[in-house]
Amino acid sequence: MIRINENYLKLKASYLFSDIAKRVAAHQQRRPEPAVIRLGIGDVTRALPDTCIAAFHEAVDEMAADATFRGYGPEQGYDFLREAIAENDFRARGADIDADEIFVSDGAKCDTGNIQELFASDVRIAIPDPVYPVYLDTNVMAGRSGTFRDGRYEGIVYLDGTADNGFIPDLPAEPVDLIYLCFPNNPTGATISKEQLKTWVDFAAANRAIILYDAAYEAFIRDDALPHSIYEIDGARNVAIEFRSFSKTAGFTGTRCAYTVVPKSLMAYTASGESHSVHRLWNRRHSTKFNGVSYPVQRAAAAIYTDAGKRQVAELIQGYMANADIIRSEMQTLGYDCIGGENAPYIWVATKGDSWAFFDMLLEKAGVVCTPGAGFGTCGEGYIRISAFNSRENVTAAMDRIRRSLKRQCHLE
Ligand code: PLP
Repeated sequence: MIRINENYLKLKASYLFSDIAKRVAAHQQRRPEPAVIRLGIGDVTRALPDTCIAAFHEAVDEMAADATFRGYGPEQGYDFLREAIAENDFRARGADIDADEIFVSDGAKCDTGNIQELFASDVRIAIPDPVYPVYLDTNVMAGRSGTFRDGRYEGIVYLDGTADNGFIPDLPAEPVDLIYLCFPNNPTGATISKEQLKTWVDFAAANRAIILYDAAYEAFIRDDALPHSIYEIDGARNVAIEFRSFSKTAGFTGTRCAYTVVPKSLMAYTASGESHSVHRLWNRRHSTKFNGVSYPVQRAAAAIYTDAGKRQVAELIQGYMANADIIRSEMQTLGYDCIGGENAPYIWVATKGDSWAFFDMLLEKAGVVCTPGAGFGTCGEGYIRISAFNSRENVTAAMDRIRRSLKRQCHLE
């Protein structure tokens, strides 16, 4: 009798986006006009930069001739891309990372989900709440949790993000082995300072723990004092793995390209205390289970690091961040406390009540779709996430509708 991995049965069905879709569909049926404006899902809306497209086309043409055709490439990524990443994303910021510590992949979702395979099934996991759900669900699938009860899995150490700590969790009170951090954060848009990040690096070093640092949104950082990479912090090479993605940086959500940094100095241990290189383990895993990102996609990604590419990516980011400024300032003017939106494309708005009720009210009265914070964890209750990923026209129209409907609502109360 074939048996299933029963850990999958512990997974809380993810109703969030299907629940949202159902409520939006029902609303549209009742009221087809005006069309709803979606500021809910974290997908980009603007086209790839011209330089990426040109490089993409050129690489496709190379694939069309026997003399320039490429078959399987290196699993870890082509040197031209790994070198460009190491130079521009790390060494230029004073972070000591070599090209051969970079593993190019088809997404930070897969990498943040797969990385836990390298570690023992009984390591203690610390995960933020609210959170990007992949970290939690992949550890549940791997059997590192008990059952789901009262909104949380038994056996997981939750790192609470609250208004009191500015959605930057405090260090855990108990020892943990694997710590997930994400800054700039999805869903809250919160950012961490170098001093705060240093306390996590020191904690990990003292506990021989590893930090899994998701920096998928680093390109949205505008404040020069904030760290773009955990490797800007002293000692991080010995305790951290970093995940990056071209998805939000340069519009690659549909094209797929990302990378993970595993420093050669990072060690993990056997039960008897023998140290092993995590780089070697990830290299083994990556080359066994992955056959590389396609050549044209890697050429398109490398184009981001040319002068024109950097300029065009900056314009793309500025466009979204101007949307974030509009959303944040409008919600604050309407009297709502906001986190995020300054160095991140997400604005986390305190709703002064139930997050689904606020979602329903915005949908009903304004025809605008947001994401209820409760979908990201128990600490997300009382908040909604508004995303800056849309056209200026849609964002302006959405905020106009929200202003009018919330003002009307205040008059009625
Ligand atoms: N990490 C975070 C925090 C994200 O929000 C997302 C996507 O929304 C990802 C990773 C996934 O990125 P990718 O498109 O590279 O898989």
